[in-house]
Amino acid sequence: MTEEPVENILKLTHLWVKHHLNIYSVKVAAREEVGMGSWKQRMDFPFSRSGLTLGAACSLSLMKDILTNAISEYPEEKTKVFCAVLQQLRTLGGEQIRNVASLGGNIVSRKSTSDLNPILAASNCMLNLASRGGKRQIPLSDIFADGVGNNTITPEEILVSVYIPHSRKGEYVSAFRQAPRRENALPITNAGMRVLFEEGTDLIKDLSIFYGGAVSTTICAKQTCRTLIGRHWNEQMLDEACQLILKEIALPGSPSGEKVDYKKILVVSFFYRFFLEVLQSLRTMDPCRYPGIPMEYRSVLQDFKTKIPQSIQIYQDIEPSQSPQDPVGRPIMHQSGIKHATGEAVYIDDLPSVDGELFLAVVTSSRAHAKIVSIDTSEALKGPGVFDIITAHDVPATNEFYYSDGPEIIFARNKVICVGQIVCAVVADSDIHAKQAAAKVKIEYEVLEPVILTIEEAIKHNSFFEPKRKLEHGNVDQAFETVDNIIEGEIHIGGQEHFYMETQSVLAVPIGEDKEMDVYVSTQHPAIIQEMVAASLGVPANRIMCHVKRVGGAFGGKLLKAGLLASVAAVAANKTSRAVRLILSRGDDMLITGGRHPFIGKYKVGFMNDGRIRAVDAKYYINGGCTPDDSVLVAEVSLLKMDNAYKIPNLRCWAYACKTNLPSNTAFRGFGFPQSALVTETWITGVADKTGLSPEKIREINMYKENEQTHFKQKLDPQNLIRCWNECIEKSAYYSRKTAVNEFNKQNYWKKKGIAIVPMKFPFGLGTRYLSQAAALVHIYTDGSVLLTHGGIEMGQGIHTKMIQVASRELNIPMSCIHFCETSTTTVPNACASAGSAGTDVNGMAVKDACQTLLKRLQPIINKNPKGTWNDWIKEAFEQSVSLSATGYFRGYNENMDWEKGEGQPFTYFLYGAACSEVEINCLTGDHKNLRTDIVMDIGYSINPAVDIGQIEGAFVQGIGLYTMEELKYSPEGVLYTRGPDQYKIPAVCDIPEQFSVSLLSSSQNPYAIYASKGIGEAGLFLGSSVFFALRDAVTSVRNERGLKKTFALNSPLTAEQIRASCADDFTEMMKNNESTSSTPRAISV
Ligand SMILES: Cc1cc2nc3c(=O)[nH]c(=O)nc-3n(C[C@H](O)[C@H](O)[C@H](O)COP(=O)(O)OP(=O)(O)OC[C@H]3O[C@@H](n4cnc5c(N)ncnc54)[C@H](O)[C@@H]3O)c2cc1C
Repeated sequence: MTEEPVENILKLTHLWVKHHLNIYSVKVAAREEVGMGSWKQRMDFPFSRSGLTLGAACSLSLMKDILTNAISEYPEEKTKVFCAVLQQLRTLGGEQIRNVASLGGNIVSRKSTSDLNPILAASNCMLNLASRGGKRQIPLSDIFADGVGNNTITPEEILVSVYIPHSRKGEYVSAFRQAPRRENALPITNAGMRVLFEEGTDLIKDLSIFYGGAVSTTICAKQTCRTLIGRHWNEQMLDEACQLILKEIALPGSPSGEKVDYKKILVVSFFYRFFLEVLQSLRTMDPCRYPGIPMEYRSVLQDFKTKIPQSIQIYQDIEPSQSPQDPVGRPIMHQSGIKHATGEAVYIDDLPSVDGELFLAVVTSSRAHAKIVSIDTSEALKGPGVFDIITAHDVPATNEFYYSDGPEIIFARNKVICVGQIVCAVVADSDIHAKQAAAKVKIEYEVLEPVILTIEEAIKHNSFFEPKRKLEHGNVDQAFETVDNIIEGEIHIGGQEHFYMETQSVLAVPIGEDKEMDVYVSTQHPAIIQEMVAASLGVPANRIMCHVKRVGGAFGGKLLKAGLLASVAAVAANKTSRAVRLILSRGDDMLITGGRHPFIGKYKVGFMNDGRIRAVDAKYYINGGCTPDDSVLVAEVSLLKMDNAYKIPNLRCWAYACKTNLPSNTAFRGFGFPQSALVTETWITGVADKTGLSPEKIREINMYKENEQTHFKQKLDPQNLIRCWNECIEKSAYYSRKTAVNEFNKQNYWKKKGIAIVPMKFPFGLGTRYLSQAAALVHIYTDGSVLLTHGGIEMGQGIHTKMIQVASRELNIPMSCIHFCETSTTTVPNACASAGSAGTDVNGMAVKDACQTLLKRLQPIINKNPKGTWNDWIKEAFEQSVSLSATGYFRGYNENMDWEKGEGQPFTYFLYGAACSEVEINCLTGDHKNLRTDIVMDIGYSINPAVDIGQIEGAFVQGIGLYTMEELKYSPEGVLYTRGPDQYKIPAVCDIPEQFSVSLLSSSQNPYAIYASKGIGEAGLFLGSSVFFALRDAVTSVRNERGLKKTFALNSPLTAEQIRASCADDFTEMMKNNESTSSTPRAISV
């Protein structure tokens, strides 16, 4: 190690510390130990005989490399600390974070969620500090000695390097962590533990236990460690240790709503895992004295590891007779795929700035239900660059839109009805100035009663949007009298954030004459944007031109919500006569725009002992939030699709859209089906539990058969449903794997596997004809190139790629001749929303129609010169004054539903599918791994199998998110806590099943849609529930083994926390007996 004068170290490290505040900036490595010389030198440099010293500026990635290298070079006995630190580094943040985050930064910021501090502190690591006063060395654990992490390092000091000691003979070191997602997620709780035994014995000589994530800083179980010195490493010590730890680590409720009980269970479960690890290690020392742990306990010592998923896509080849140029049915790459990946694809925020453009930041309500007493904008107006403040008074015409039972509101006028409602907006010369000023707007409120947040509260206050809906079929009451058995239950399904990559974005540009305005917006529904903006400004729709090139994901979240935000920007642009750009931050987007409806399904199911379900009586409640949006429609769809794949002869169900003081919820991929079908599959498994038959048997017995009708009397042909089911059973080798799962479960106590297969019927339709009409416009230019447009929106799902395929087939020209520029209200008026999986179906028909019109016009010219080229014919057509532009139109599907009678044909056809998933859970932590999923889907004749399978895979993974991990947390005052990727976890690569196969059902045709295809956007999402039920299967196996109650309820999302709580054991019992367990939850279930 070079001796560097303190002054020099300070200069270098200060420079680095300064730069280092920006995580993306290049760091000047602290020269002390690492950061100089060649790679090899760097690797060799830091080692000494007793340990390793790393410079504080060492990136976590470099640290990982150094430790990996050290482990391979040193004897195992010396590297136990290195191994434990490396264990944490593997899942700490992600690769990008580890590349820029530094060892020193991680330690000094003293975050409770640091994955390094607990293990470094437990391992007796030392910090080398320097200041103008000199250098000194302190144990890392000293920083946390005061229990709040404020100790010891003075503001003048900098951390120069960190000394990590070798482990010694008889010393065992481990690190643990549990996060909401295995990778790229801060830990819920983590731990570092070290024990040193008296030589050749199991008598504890030194013990060190540190936890992170539990309280506001890293914390040491000091007393526990002291008390246990001199004890033997045995069950008695374990019992005592757990009691002591629970007493010492008093956990307060965390403001973000994380439940304390789970952290407590983790705290003791981690110690138990350490106990097992050490017992097993002692065995290697002396197998006669220390027999190690039972065989069936050993698998829990292995953590789940992420492997690169292996995926298989199976689809039918095109007919050999098909022309090589005809792209229909071929797996063509998304036309913008490369641009999406390189970042060249243009989204709203990428549009070049317009002269004089202003930025808009919204000011939102901080109360759930209150009168606005005053709005003080004086401080905000003084802010730098502030141009104006826009309120309801600046809306020239409509501030409130009535689409159903109650208004959708642009700006709150006199009162607010949820936290996150837009009250006013600041426009300024930059985004940052607008946001700074927005924070200075002071709003005085007078709280109004009642504040209704949850479904239960809405029921209590009879607060619903109208109409309430009911479907009844057969004679339910009579059927209940004749059944062998009845179960009753309830399931709560949490909401879901759309989490589109592109947040809500608008650029409103006043043209400067005749009140015209261009509105560039990220929406699925340009026509509604045009309508709402025109109505708010009080101008005819023909003055508002709405343009959408592409949308960075929408999933249903960019319909009415985008219209309100576009109106906010347009009102500001109108008032200021400037272009106004509004790009919601992720936090604001999550706060303001709502998402999938939280759902409660209450059910009573009557069935025979042989598994036949005879009667269902159910009530569904969805949390609609503060305005109606599509809530009643979502409730209706949840009723219409509640049967999933089953014929229920006697059925009654009510659906209520609850009116609450939460941000208004809205459309989301699946539109009520993912929730109502989960309720159905829940009672299916309930019936299985009660009858002792397997869930798949119950599913098969009750599945639709030939010539049956739905509960609203629509006929269906279930042949492909049964084919999907059988193929899925076969392709997944379900029965042999189920046997293997059972075998695994017999041999493993703390790890269990689960497997489940779930069928799906997904009805396609929008309920009425006018909602599925569509139009297209096709121009042929004289150079032969074709410009195509239609009313559909590209939101990543590949609609434009498919439409170009359609035009290519119809015009018989290569796809490369056809271009799609944008969707716009100026080219296709009154287009319906791209929603409900209908985009390709309806726009495809319109494009086909337009192309056929053009081809008809060209036909005489082609007939005259059959050997001519496309360009020859176009030139000739132009010279003959044949119009080279045509519109195409599709009237929509003849769908209807009579809610009075409870009968109708609301759907045009049905998609079918089945998914089989296998998982493994860790009963000590609740963690799980998705091992394998096999999906078989009937999507008719796929126009583009690459795009369609992408939709199935993407939707399935979004379903995994909904059912197993995505948790929205609200405060008891109605404030959304989870407002970004830090708090709200969507699935990542580590959550994709290790083996993932999607097969499209062969020889399936659909007479109702373009080229016999089926609309595929939404259906796959529900298949994510197969993971939910596989988890349930694993939990059932735990509970059966432990003799626990057979009937148990699981809610969605089935998070690690819930899995852990359901795998009841001595540790969960310990929690019950622990006095401080009764801490009030800080988050409410809405
Ligand atoms: C998205 C994301 C995910 C993450 N996930 C995890 C995770 O899962 N687990 C985990 O443990 N961490 C995680 N982190 C935190 C990360 O590992 C680093 O701890 C964090 O970024 C701070 O390190 P830094 O190098 O950026 O320090 P900085 O942010 O630059 O510094 C932090 C503070 O320490 C001070 N400081 C830095 N170096 C010194 C020094 N040598 N002497 C004195 N003061 C100093 C700085 O002045 C500053 O006040 C995550 C971070 C991000 C952004």
